[in-house]
Amino acid sequence: MHEHARRLATIVVHAGERAAPLTATPTTTPIYTSATYVYPTLAALDAAFADGDGYVYTRHGNPTVAALEAAVTAVEGGVGAIACASGMAALHAAILAAGTPRGETGPQPRGILIARDIYGSTAVLVRELFAAHGVPVAAVDMGDLAAVAAACAELHPDVIIAEQLSNPLLRVIDVAGLARVARTAGARLIIDNTIATPLLQQPLALGADLVVHSATKYLSGHGDAAGGVVVARSGLVRDTLVRQSRLIGASLGPFEAQQILRGLKTLALRLERQCANAAQVAHWLAAQPAVTRVIYPGLATHPQHALADVAFGGRFGALVTFDLADRSRMALERWFDGLRMIVPGTTLGDVFTLASAPAVASHRELSVAQRAERGIGETTIRLSLGIEAVEDIIDDLADALQRAGDGSTTGEA
Ligand SMILES: *Cc1c(COP(=O)(O)O)cnc(C)c1O
Repeated sequence: MHEHARRLATIVVHAGERAAPLTATPTTTPIYTSATYVYPTLAALDAAFADGDGYVYTRHGNPTVAALEAAVTAVEGGVGAIACASGMAALHAAILAAGTPRGETGPQPRGILIARDIYGSTAVLVRELFAAHGVPVAAVDMGDLAAVAAACAELHPDVIIAEQLSNPLLRVIDVAGLARVARTAGARLIIDNTIATPLLQQPLALGADLVVHSATKYLSGHGDAAGGVVVARSGLVRDTLVRQSRLIGASLGPFEAQQILRGLKTLALRLERQCANAAQVAHWLAAQPAVTRVIYPGLATHPQHALADVAFGGRFGALVTFDLADRSRMALERWFDGLRMIVPGTTLGDVFTLASAPAVASHRELSVAQRAERGIGETTIRLSLGIEAVEDIIDDLADALQRAGDGSTTGEA
């Protein structure tokens, strides 16, 4: 066959591309930006399609994203995972897969039972994407297994969603107990493990069917990537997740996948330090007269301290919630504006210490009375401890408390 000499307009498009695969393996996963993949023959492409696991198109599967999925599957002890564009996309995918009848493709769950103090956007997701379309939804205290069983008897849910360590009140749940109740009710249990992380607890080993992460938080850990992951305990649920996510297309991009995969490598180191910092800060805060309530599962005053101690193997997470004794908005503003190192930001799980005010951020849509009913005060502050030297964190907290007290009736001038 005659080889044509190509024009420059063609050469600039194709030159250098599609080299043969490396014979050596890169030590870390490259970022594969390719939207599609070439096979030597059409028959080979046909086989890749038929196999279902061959790379043909990036929404169906991407090697960089697959590396992250494999890593989180290993860390959570599941059989497979899908990575999504955000934690919310992961929750949506998990609800759809959990509500899909065994071995079939069902349009909707039959009923969804959620934790009363679940992440705000999860409650809205369930309300607007499911309840509004006729799926019965109810909320219950997931710490009260008898109440969960009673709600199941009434609602007959096929999906139950709970969080290990709620935000900002840091309630601890008995995942194994909840899994037993879910199994009896014929429901699949989704645990949002974003805040506890697999370092504290692996819900799949305790009987949960799916684990969800906002990878934006601890898995990534550096505040520079958004993503979500769903991990399945059974092959059936994994296959449903994969099939549905290919249709919905909320898949994670390869750049974020690489960043999260990189962050994941230091999860254990980061979290050890963050938990130690949180424990020290919680004890320090508990001794401050300008602070009233301190919520931390590692404190003996926490209502589920004993449960947390057993469940988390002596670690208690890296979030600490407290209230300023001065309940005025001015005191809250002076405290936040008095921070010099701690970052006032509405996320959690980063290497730097973050502070947020639920009344201003996560729970701002609620009235003062509704917040009070949920145990959230107007000067409640949630800290997400970073990996800095704990002395510097405490110095910054002390200075901010001093400034919050300045000009108030209780504080020193
Ligand atoms: C942040 C968060 C989410 C949502 O994750 P995004 O990545 O922001 O979409 C879900 N659940 C919990 C517990 C979270 O903290």
